[in-house]
Amino acid sequence: MILRFWGVRGSIPTPGRDTIIVGGNTTCVSLRLDDYICVFDAGTGLRLLGQYLANENSDCWQGSIFLTHYHWDHIQGLPFFAPAFRKENRFRIYGEPRDGIMMEKILSEQMQHPYFPVKIDNLQGLLNFNEIRAGDNLEVLPGVFVRTVRLTHPNGAIGYRVDSPKGSMCIITDHEHPKKGISSKVVDFVKGATVLIHDAQYTPEDKKGLKAGWGHSSWEEAALTARKAQVSKLYLAHHDPENSDADLEAILIKAKKIFPETELAMESSYFQF
Ligand SMILES: [Zn+2]
Ligand SMILES: [Zn+2]
Repeated sequence: MILRFWGVRGSIPTPGRDTIIVGGNTTCVSLRLDDYICVFDAGTGLRLLGQYLANENSDCWQGSIFLTHYHWDHIQGLPFFAPAFRKENRFRIYGEPRDGIMMEKILSEQMQHPYFPVKIDNLQGLLNFNEIRAGDNLEVLPGVFVRTVRLTHPNGAIGYRVDSPKGSMCIITDHEHPKKGISSKVVDFVKGATVLIHDAQYTPEDKKGLKAGWGHSSWEEAALTARKAQVSKLYLAHHDPENSDADLEAILIKAKKIFPETELAMESSYFQF
């Protein structure tokens, strides 16, 4: 399996000279299982995955796109995902209904006049839209299971865990741990994973101030979750748009003191397991 980061930023894209190393596209991660592609979130990084797939020698891609929620930083890449416009490709999308509104309608609204010139019906490579809920467990390929968990975030979000004979990967973003400590529900969900990708948007100081209740974790909470759950590797992700490459390097040094096997999620970086 190859895990690859296409977008690692939270909230809004951050192009510029201070973010060149870590990257400025918003959330998108792929997990490749031979020729099957699982995608987690469709932020602006999804466009880069589309370019990458277009350059590979394949007439037809099959995969699933799993959405954690519908904030802009998690869906804005979908109208720019070139493989979705080719009817030869077969991608299934998974996400929660929200307040009784089905996912297809939610996603189609960002592509309506006057926001965007192409309607969602033109995405012929998207086979179907599948409702998923917290607690579900799907077998996406023989022996490969995708499970979901409820996260704490304004407007709601779910986290994902993939278990396969080769290893396991969890993505926990966007999520706010309780004030009294790390969420035991999340620790149980990610327990023993090969790789944990965790929201690390804030600093511990941010969370004592105005940003308490905004629905995100600190790098410290991400590292503590990894340590408690005894995962093998942690990626700090959903980086704050205000943080430069130098700021994130400083955060990484501090996080490694709590959980040494920590890395920064960086655009185009990958991990094979
Ligand atoms: Zn987000
Ligand atoms: Zn969000």
